[in-house]
Amino acid sequence: MEGSETIIFDSHCHLDRFPKETKVRELIERAETTGVKYFFVPGVTGFPARIGELAEFPQIITGWGVHPGYTEDFHENCCEEMAIALKASVCRAIGECGLDRRFRVKFEKQLAAFQWQIDLARESGLPLVLHLVGHYDVALKMLKQAGPKLKFVLHSFCGSYEVASQFLELDAYISFSGSIFKKNHDDIDRILNLVPENRLLIETDSPDQKPDFCPGKLNEPINLPEIARRLAAVRGISFEELCSVTLKNCRILFMP
Ligand SMILES: [Zn+2]
Repeated sequence: MEGSETIIFDSHCHLDRFPKETKVRELIERAETTGVKYFFVPGVTGFPARIGELAEFPQIITGWGVHPGYTEDFHENCCEEMAIALKASVCRAIGECGLDRRFRVKFEKQLAAFQWQIDLARESGLPLVLHLVGHYDVALKMLKQAGPKLKFVLHSFCGSYEVASQFLELDAYISFSGSIFKKNHDDIDRILNLVPENRLLIETDSPDQKPDFCPGKLNEPINLPEIARRLAAVRGISFEELCSVTLKNCRILFMP
């Protein structure tokens, strides 16, 4: 049973990207009934949308970033906005950013935007939130070049055991979403057990990536405890322990 004090941190959810009629407050209130009390909301095209609404909630941490699928006109929209974000301290991480082989945006564009954001994270000392689908070797090389001071998390990890090992050598944090449980993924238990306790994060990536076992039409942070429960079972630890470990890691990363 989960105790009333179990606090869960959703390390990646797009509270700003639900349909307009869904209020951020409703999402948070629903999530809180199951212990999900902190939320990291990344940027996809710069600041998160609805940033004003998000700012009303101290339990929401926001990032600034340009997702690889939105890098076509990258340099026009970023620099000035970023300076404002850093000054106002509304930005606690850079991302989500990275590389994705599925998008039509030219690879060179994705690369340039990714490099720009790696540099920004390194210079600002903020953690980097990575969206990587394929191109793992390229990303590894870029992150290696950035040096050991750069902290980063691979969000909604969907790579192989070997890929996970290579990123862990660079001290990556790895975040798992509900998607891992619907994949036809032989290696998944090995991967879930590979990540050291102090590098493990959990997320919903809501409203996307709804796990099969969760009710409702859209994925919501309220689904995170079920993801945590399954992950805890695979790792052979209690639900409470898994929540406490991932909460601690999120605090170190996003609220130092
Ligand atoms: Zn995302």
